[in-house]
Amino acid sequence: MSDCIFCKIINKEIPSSFVYEDDDCVVFKDIHPKTKTHLLVVPKMHIDSIAHLAETDTELVGKLFQVCKKVADQLGLPGYNLQVNVGKEGGQEVFHLHIHLMSRF
Ligand code: AMP
Ligand code: ZN
Repeated sequence: MSDCIFCKIINKEIPSSFVYEDDDCVVFKDIHPKTKTHLLVVPKMHIDSIAHLAETDTELVGKLFQVCKKVADQLGLPGYNLQVNVGKEGGQEVFHLHIHLMSRF
């Protein structure tokens, strides 16, 4: 989506600090970290939010959680929190689905 900031990051049109990339997902550092480790796990495909998931997105959602696990393992995080904000009233600011991966480690 042309006016989506995360699509622009995924397409390398604006810079970001990537920590992981595969065919389906990217992980980059949140620009305003709330914790020592604060990453965003993002599908390359533009989906507005969890509220906009289709039945056919089930495998992709599973993949996103697998990537959370993989990156947390690679970073050696002993524990972490995953958060997904859904909708403006749920605190969502960027309408491209993402999981916050946050840790005090
Ligand atoms: P949410 O409120 O769940 O939509 O979270 C959006 C997150 O994206 C916030 O934590 C922002 O700090 C983060 N963010 C916004 N713009 C950028 C950017 N250009 N690079 C990295 N993170 C960003
Ligand atoms: Zn997007």
